[in-house]
Amino acid sequence: MSHTHEGHSHKHGTGCGHTAVRHGQHVDYLHDGHLHHQNADGVVEEHVIAVTKQNPDGCTPSHGIGHQPGHVHGPGCGHEAVPHRDHIDYLVDGHLHHPHGDHCDDHGKLAVVAS
Ligand SMILES: [Zn+2]
Ligand SMILES: [Zn+2]
Ligand SMILES: [Zn+2]
Ligand SMILES: [Zn+2]
Ligand SMILES: [Zn+2]
Ligand SMILES: [Zn+2]
Repeated sequence: MSHTHEGHSHKHGTGCGHTAVRHGQHVDYLHDGHLHHQNADGVVEEHVIAVTKQNPDGCTPSHGIGHQPGHVHGPGCGHEAVPHRDHIDYLVDGHLHHPHGDHCDDHGKLAVVAS
């Protein structure tokens, strides 16, 4: 379940300036709210985090938030946007946060890879 990103001239890699995350057995890059995977041929594919036991999409109103109370995630909020199946989450301290009413749901961990 992936498709090729057309017209992508930027080459993701160590030190490219994007946040690298571990996705299964490979590394992807967070790029403007997309999860980009650069394959061995230099072709960039769009990946999406699947809903799994590790990354459920349930409501967890009581999880520790890890940011200012009342912080509202959105474009430019300072957190990286991450596509999670059919919605967008925000990466906070290695966790996927999903804004939901007056709280954030915790949609599991996403490991950031040092680059
Ligand atoms: Zn990059
Ligand atoms: Zn991937
Ligand atoms: Zn919720
Ligand atoms: Zn945020
Ligand atoms: Zn999510
Ligand atoms: Zn949050």
